[in-house]
Amino acid sequence: MHNSTDRVIDDPQSDLFVIKSIPGKGYGMFAKRDLQCGTIIVCEKPLMKYPNGSPPWLLEAIYDKLDSETQRRIRFLSASKPWKHPLDSICETNSIPLAHGSEEKGVFYYISMVNHSCESNTFWIWFDYNNKQEMKLIADRRIKAGEELVCSYIERFQTRQRRHEFLQYTWLFKCQCYVCEQHEKDKELDELYASLSKNYDYIMDFDSKVSEEHIKRFLKSVKFVQEHYHNSLIQMFLLHLCILLPCCMLKKWEDALKYAKKAIFLGRMIYDDDYERYLITVKDIIMAKVPMKHRIGFDKYLV
Ligand SMILES: [Zn+2]
Repeated sequence: MHNSTDRVIDDPQSDLFVIKSIPGKGYGMFAKRDLQCGTIIVCEKPLMKYPNGSPPWLLEAIYDKLDSETQRRIRFLSASKPWKHPLDSICETNSIPLAHGSEEKGVFYYISMVNHSCESNTFWIWFDYNNKQEMKLIADRRIKAGEELVCSYIERFQTRQRRHEFLQYTWLFKCQCYVCEQHEKDKELDELYASLSKNYDYIMDFDSKVSEEHIKRFLKSVKFVQEHYHNSLIQMFLLHLCILLPCCMLKKWEDALKYAKKAIFLGRMIYDDDYERYLITVKDIIMAKVPMKHRIGFDKYLV
């Protein structure tokens, strides 16, 4: 829902998406044509960024320093708790953390209009390199022309009840996406969906003990993402990145190289010209852990 009915949204002038008004839901972003997985749909600088937990007076001080056009765009955005301080509510409703675990949040114009779905078809990712600071919205799978572009506002792989608690707390709405509908009817599927997070935690916990169970959970998670989550680009990338160290610790060199190649392939689709930074993680692991004789011919994947 936007704050001012007498204004229309600025035309994004994009070949890839349009912003349309949805009855009862405010605005939403839609694909203008078929989009391939990995397509960068929009790339935007924040209208405003601020430290997490900023009180309203600090938000006001940051806002006051912005030019009038940027201020106009911020005021255009929706506020789900209109009884609160207006700018505070706009920020709460529209902000996106700048990178995972970041201390800063940003408010965007078009990207902040992307609606939530637990069955998201896009993801956003913060790029901070070469003096450029931009949020990119990327297609997580193939998307058909006319489809609404949706993203998950919360950690996706939780039970329906947990997801609804989080969404209700900040955005005051009840998600009625296809996944939520299915999970209401099928509790087992709901638990299976939530188990993906547990599998991630398990795979990532390799400090003291790594076992075949790590590989088992990885393969189970890959299967889940293929069957239930449209082969999600970002989830597949993260899974393949996470399993590299456990594979090396188990001396499963062939698997380590196989999954490293996949991580490199998917990482290139996501990180594009900022790719080198992410390649280093894969490169470091393989070079440090896999004995030379087991990685002959692998170097060509690292350039
Ligand atoms: Zn949902």
